[in-house]
Amino acid sequence: MSCRCVDIARCQRDLDVLRGQAAPCARRANDSCTHIDTALSNAASSVGKAIETASIAELQSQLGKLGKQEHKAVWELDNGCVSEATRIAASISQMRTEDAAYHRSVAEAQAKAAAVARAQAQAQALAQAEAQAKAAMGKWQSR
Ligand SMILES: [Zn+2]
Repeated sequence: MSCRCVDIARCQRDLDVLRGQAAPCARRANDSCTHIDTALSNAASSVGKAIETASIAELQSQLGKLGKQEHKAVWELDNGCVSEATRIAASISQMRTEDAAYHRSVAEAQAKAAAVARAQAQAQALAQAEAQAKAAMGKWQSR
């Protein structure tokens, strides 16, 4: 158990960058891929009849494959950003628990040390009062 304040701050910065910049960027790319998929599919179906039927089928197949490959890569990136953000957030949460326990134990140790110091001061004050009382009694008896 130790202080994780520095680690927490570092992870929080990473998470902020990931959520604020990387993840939205991947999301937009993924969304635009969907549009590209549609555009490619439309292009494939609207190829002129001047080309032979076999060539059209081949072209459509190539366009479809291209779109799918690109989209899969971007989809993985998008998903990767989301799961990385989730992983960092979970790690921050775990470190916060550990850090809170550490600071609680430090505060408890400090409170105990302060209580011991107070008790010692009281014992010293009592010893002084006792010595003074004895001295006064001695004076009174020797009158
Ligand atoms: Zn800490």
